[in-house]
Amino acid sequence: MINLLDFDLEALTTLFVERDEKPFRARQTLRWVHRRLVDRVEAMTDLARPTREGLVRDAEIRAPSIVRDTSASDGTRKWLLDVGGANAIETVYIPEDDRGTLCVSSQAGCALDCAFCSTGKQGFNRNLSAGEIIGQLWLANRMLLADGAKAPWVEQGRHPITNVVMMGMGEPLANFDNVVTALRIMLDDNAYGLSRRRVTVSTSGLVPAMDRLREACPVALAVSLHAPDDALRDRLVPINRKYPLKRLLAACLRYIERAPRDFVTFEYVMLDRVNDAPEQAQALVQLVRDVPCKFNLIPFNPFPNTEFRTSPWRRIVAFQGILQDAGLTATVRKTRGEDIDAACGQLAGRVQDRTRRKTHRLHAVAAH
Ligand code: SAH
Ligand code: SF4
Repeated sequence: MINLLDFDLEALTTLFVERDEKPFRARQTLRWVHRRLVDRVEAMTDLARPTREGLVRDAEIRAPSIVRDTSASDGTRKWLLDVGGANAIETVYIPEDDRGTLCVSSQAGCALDCAFCSTGKQGFNRNLSAGEIIGQLWLANRMLLADGAKAPWVEQGRHPITNVVMMGMGEPLANFDNVVTALRIMLDDNAYGLSRRRVTVSTSGLVPAMDRLREACPVALAVSLHAPDDALRDRLVPINRKYPLKRLLAACLRYIERAPRDFVTFEYVMLDRVNDAPEQAQALVQLVRDVPCKFNLIPFNPFPNTEFRTSPWRRIVAFQGILQDAGLTATVRKTRGEDIDAACGQLAGRVQDRTRRKTHRLHAVAAH
């Protein structure tokens, strides 16, 4: 069975042409699936009957299935999704005054093994398909609409989700083709019609893939910096051994030439006594002096068996102050959805553990 969620406009056009259908059917189909958010081919009533019947036979709209749906007191909502083979991923919806942001996963697990990341500690399971990536956006919009999502932009006929950040589980640029297909669907006016500045890819710094993204689909870019020098970054973000800071910053400059915003966002996780000293803030200022950038300081989110601690608030504020005094924009990420463990960067880690256990239990029950 073809999964219509796997196709961007170009691929869908090819599919229709191969099936001796008119190319414009691709646009129509994309609108049904991603604008009207239908879940059955039968519902696409303005498709010519033979087209529809052919599609009913061969195609479906198949998003990952929801294992758990949790809401936090601050409106943050988290879905645990089953992607088969005992793999679970998470998607988080973060409502704000003027936008609804969805934090989307790109891989089940991650191979890059950053020292402070619970997804990394899980190891790598597999890449998500384009349909599993865009399926998170499709599903979240559908769920929020079904539950009567209230926001000014929804009343104007727009989808509840206005912004996407690829900051869930996995390294998006290590799953390049599927991520780019999903990004194209996010941007397509026949689908979600999000502007490039409302879609952010976060990367740990895969330099060649950053250059490819610049050509293929230059959306907003966030780079996980986390250290002011190579010695420390080698330890915290091991991919730095392959693509050290000098190369990474040069790639950021190249990216900015095409980016929808004239800066990159540097993410910097605040680890107590590891990367949060005033001298390190000063070194950071020097490091990025030629790169138009903004800093997002992320309080470390602890998980079981981690060697790291969250920086105390006063150290975070002092660090932020040094960046700001040097003329840099630096914000501290608000913790959202605390009561449901919804922080980015360590999403499906714990839940996946639980799912695994649950799956084992199910197997055990089934064996009896
Ligand atoms: N793989 C991509 C995107 C996913 S992680 C990347 O590394 O950029 C999104 C952000 O959360 C990254 O900046 C990541 O470094 C950060 N992060 C990972 N684990 C974290 C933790 N335990 N606490 C706080 N931030 C974390
Ligand atoms: Fe992978 Fe990003 Fe976690 Fe590093 S921080 S292990 S790149 S998900």
